[in-house]
Amino acid sequence: MTTVLDGNAVAADVRDGLRESIETLADAGARPGLATVLMSDDPASETYVSMKQRDCEEVGIDGSHVELAPDAPAEDLFDTVADLNADPAVHGILVQMPVPDHVDKRRVLRAIDPAKDVDGFHPENVGRMVAGDPRFKPCTPHGIQKLLAAADVETEGADAVVVGRSDIVGKPITNLLIQKAPLGNATTTVCHSRTRDLAAKTREADIVVAAAGVPELVTGDMLKEGATVIDVGVNRVEADTEKGYELVGDVEFESAKERAGVITPVPGGVGPMTRAMLLYNTVKAASERADVPIDLP
Ligand code: NDP
Repeated sequence: MTTVLDGNAVAADVRDGLRESIETLADAGARPGLATVLMSDDPASETYVSMKQRDCEEVGIDGSHVELAPDAPAEDLFDTVADLNADPAVHGILVQMPVPDHVDKRRVLRAIDPAKDVDGFHPENVGRMVAGDPRFKPCTPHGIQKLLAAADVETEGADAVVVGRSDIVGKPITNLLIQKAPLGNATTTVCHSRTRDLAAKTREADIVVAAAGVPELVTGDMLKEGATVIDVGVNRVEADTEKGYELVGDVEFESAKERAGVITPVPGGVGPMTRAMLLYNTVKAASERADVPIDLP
């Protein structure tokens, strides 16, 4: 029997677990606040930001939003970030990526106050995570850990293969999986576009995390019987639908489901978890700023 992990349900549990803490913080005069900043007219980015704002509203986080024209001077973005850094009502800042080419992305990541960096991409927070002392775990890898926990997947001693080595998914989930910590202790191999024989690696794995951005790259015959398969990919492929496309993951779901013990669907797997963990980090930031201890789910 294959378990198809319901990311929407696990994410709802995380949100439910946050609500009480949010009210505790609000009673102490520190209702968590998340500011989103968008400097793009890309419809996908606009959708992501509006979903994040909706999520805030749903759990009682104060959402605020700043929009800048894509051709505005880079300094406008840095001034906006400086204002948000100084605003005591803002506990978390999220600058929606990608930013336009004329803006130095690394400078943006460095400009956000590390205590408000709820994406977990500031070099200080990356360093703390690598050193085993995370302040904010990046949302997608953290969400993956929550999914593994929800399915009682044993990571300790497991052979894990991560497909992809990006700064936002591949590297941080690799890092978390190798930590000497709960939901870590896995023997982890990282694959990427120069990996010689991907299938030979994934076939050995008890846990496969696919984060390559290649539609249906990982097929059932590349998996060990009973493996746990976490599909991070979100790819639009042309389809005979109203929108003219459909979303598929980096895993060929139907064939993989035949072999896997546990598998996440796309959509409805990792995606909702990423959104929930942003709320989690915002609540954590508010609690630390206000020095009000709370329980986190
Ligand atoms: P990037 O494009 O930044 O990184 C992709 C990685 O996959 C690179 O390391 C690349 O290797 C590797 N790769 C590409 N092709 C292959 C291949 N054929 N075999 C092995 N490795 C390969 O992507 P992201 O990490 O940002 O995102 C990955 C996917 O996850 C995307 O579909 C994205 O939309 C999705 N995503 C989903 C999220 C969610 O919440 N569900 C959140 C973030 C991303 P190399 O380094 O050599 O180029």
